[in-house]
Amino acid sequence: MSMAGTADSPLDIVTKQFESIYKTSPTVFSRAPGRVEVLGNHTDYNEGVVLSAAIDREVWVAVSKSSSAECRLTSGIFPESVVISKIEPLKSRNRWANYPLGVYRTLLDRGYPVAPFNLAIHSTVPLGAGVSSSAALEVATALALCGLFGFEVDPAELAKICQSAENHFVGANCGLLDQFSSMFGRAGHLLFSDFRSLYHNAIPIAAGDVTLAITLSGVTHSLVAGEYNSRRRECFEAAKFFQAKNPEQKTLRDVSMAELKSAQAELDPQFFKRAMHVVGEDERVFSAIELLKSGSMKEFGALLYQSHESSIHNFENSCRELDILVDIAKSIAGVYGARLTGGGFGGATLTVLKTEAKDRFGETIVQEYKKRTGRNTTVHFARIADGASIV
Ligand code: ADP
Ligand code: MG
Repeated sequence: MSMAGTADSPLDIVTKQFESIYKTSPTVFSRAPGRVEVLGNHTDYNEGVVLSAAIDREVWVAVSKSSSAECRLTSGIFPESVVISKIEPLKSRNRWANYPLGVYRTLLDRGYPVAPFNLAIHSTVPLGAGVSSSAALEVATALALCGLFGFEVDPAELAKICQSAENHFVGANCGLLDQFSSMFGRAGHLLFSDFRSLYHNAIPIAAGDVTLAITLSGVTHSLVAGEYNSRRRECFEAAKFFQAKNPEQKTLRDVSMAELKSAQAELDPQFFKRAMHVVGEDERVFSAIELLKSGSMKEFGALLYQSHESSIHNFENSCRELDILVDIAKSIAGVYGARLTGGGFGGATLTVLKTEAKDRFGETIVQEYKKRTGRNTTVHFARIADGASIV
């Protein structure tokens, strides 16, 4: 708290943190938001389309040039600072530092003029809550380093550099959606991304006062990675079936719903269902854009419910707890729609609701979920926010 009794801004907090650790002042600041997938489930690796939103939870990064060959990193949520001169992934403690170090290393490897730095992190993005704190940290780091060393990178390219850092330096599998949303999101808009062309565009939400609720089921099913990989493979197998007939059709993005349905008898039933989900999600994204433009929020919300149904029956990446969360959300006045968000098999649901319904939603979902599952849920309410920037 400041002397005036008002809460310190994130800028104040990260500055103080930086100064207390490094005994010098930061020279560049950046911020990057968390994100949520709104519609378009498991479409990114099928070269499909997604609607997502940047949210008002942000990672703030402060940096200065290092006067030695060492990089120094500190985060408000981890007790130890990291001092490192050889930029290799940390294996034991302090793995968190691999996210910013991975971005640095990837920039270095690609010939950008970066050099050792001091870095402090302050964040309000919850970790592991399905809103991609990792991408927010990477994107904030990337922008801070561009600012500090005075070079520019096309933002889409920078997002890809961050993804590459997470894939290869951290060693975590993530699609480009996370970094794209953190980079390009816009307040009052949903971000449309096309993962074939990498075209992206902000779509205004005509119906004013909308809040997003990210509701954590509290369950993670143990076979997630295996299930995730098998779904991926099934999608690629389905695409191969079409490619064998027409070499132009390389991914599920190239297959229309009509073509898919007419191939049902010949296609492996499992592959057919996976493809129904992915092709259906692409269709729903395009329908959603039209509905958003006309402010038809009820119909937009219906697409979220349809997406969840498709997860249950076609993609089979839902679970009892997620179904219950969606079911409860559906019963609450002021809710437009709800669905599982992200990978599935546990994790979180997203609910789009009128802001005035927030309290009612929070109370009801916590109580009812406890009653029906014996479990506790955590709800993160968020507003749609602007993408990353150098401050
Ligand atoms: P998420 O869904 O939140 O992205 P991940 O497991 O992909 O979950 O990323 C979370 C990891 O990112 C954390 O365990 C930590 O290593 C790193 N991280 C995220 N936020 C911070 C932060 N504020 N400070 C340091 N590390 C962070
Ligand atoms: Mg992540």
